Amino acid sequence: MRVLVVEDDRVLGRQLSGSLRDAGYSVDLADNGETGEFLGITETYDAAVLDLGLPKLNGIDVLKRWRSAHCYMPVLILTARGTWSEKVAGFDAGADDYVTKPFHIEEILARIRALIRRAAGHAEAILECGTIELDPRSGKVTLGGTPVTLTSQEYRVLSYMMHHAGNIVSRSELIDHIYAQYDDPDSNTIEVFISRLRRKLGPQQIETLKGQGYRLAENQWQ
Ligand code: CA
Repeated sequence: MRVLVVEDDRVLGRQLSGSLRDAGYSVDLADNGETGEFLGITETYDAAVLDLGLPKLNGIDVLKRWRSAHCYMPVLILTARGTWSEKVAGFDAGADDYVTKPFHIEEILARIRALIRRAAGHAEAILECGTIELDPRSGKVTLGGTPVTLTSQEYRVLSYMMHHAGNIVSRSELIDHIYAQYDDPDSNTIEVFISRLRRKLGPQQIETLKGQGYRLAENQWQ
């Protein structure tokens, strides 16, 4: 899962992107509205955290431009305290949720988890797929109740596939959702991650559909 953070406050921007990375997301950080608008439109994200007070282009305009460019990722806006009109303007521009500054980073993480989950059509906090369970809160994965240790990249691949269990996920889609802007994606590495996941979770869990991609079979082991 990949998240865009648009925040001009350096300390806050670094804190947000660091915490999101620690929570298992790949993260891009934009420190002004123009860059944020550009990244949102040209890259692929599963969610965005968008500050409203930004240099070059304010957050409301960034959001409006994303939406008119058919960019529909869930967006969490950061608003100043006591500015109800900002929240209203944010929702009217297409925001999905808001957090008022100052905030606890845990609240941002919880809201991002919920937004991503709901966008993928899941109501439950823990994702289940047959005997695999993935808890986005702790980043822990279990197989039949036994903890499985995954590298951060393996976790990102599995998390994306768990959010889209039952669907065919192409290799390029995985690349778009697990790498940040300045990572150097190599499409062969996806195969490596998939084969490591098969080794750790069982060979039958992930199907390969020739020329199309991979699928986590939802009911295979139930
Ligand atoms: Ca700001």
